[in-house]
Amino acid sequence: MESKVRVATCSLCGCFGCHMSLLDLDERLFDLAEKVEFDRSPLTDIKELGECDIGIVEGGIANVENVHTLLEFRARCKILIAMGACAISGGIPAMRNQYELKDCLEESYTRGVGLVDAQIPNDPEIPLLLNQVHPIHEVVKIDYFLPGCPPSADAIWTFVSQLLAGQPIALPYTQIHYD
Ligand code: SF4
Repeated sequence: MESKVRVATCSLCGCFGCHMSLLDLDERLFDLAEKVEFDRSPLTDIKELGECDIGIVEGGIANVENVHTLLEFRARCKILIAMGACAISGGIPAMRNQYELKDCLEESYTRGVGLVDAQIPNDPEIPLLLNQVHPIHEVVKIDYFLPGCPPSADAIWTFVSQLLAGQPIALPYTQIHYD
């Protein structure tokens, strides 16, 4: 029996919308399951990343934990894919880059109406925030970029089908225009 392609996915600093779009493959997920087996992913809840053929990363880099996860994905996945605007350019989370991190934290935690003795959380278990949100290609080499916010299920299907078939990636304009 032909062995299945092992695929891992993760969400770094994103909204899980790209993973929701992956689920929007709907019945095509059954076709996908014929060819791939999921390793660590929010879809499987496997916690430890194994050796994989393909890693799909949603979200940018906003904290130290994101960096560690991304480095692990790069080390364990032969092909690494940046899925969606947040992974590719930082996306919406990167809108905070125009402000000082201290100002963002104070705005979020200490300037609400009715707050009493408000404090910025500093538990050591909370991943340390980076001063800016970074696209993932600034940290590791990325093999493919799949644009969109999120990429549509059709775009994901075209992309994955071509990749699994060993074909060049060629998304039709109808799947990557956003006007
Ligand atoms: S690219 Fe869009 S849908 Fe995907 S994680 Fe970022 S904000 Fe969410």
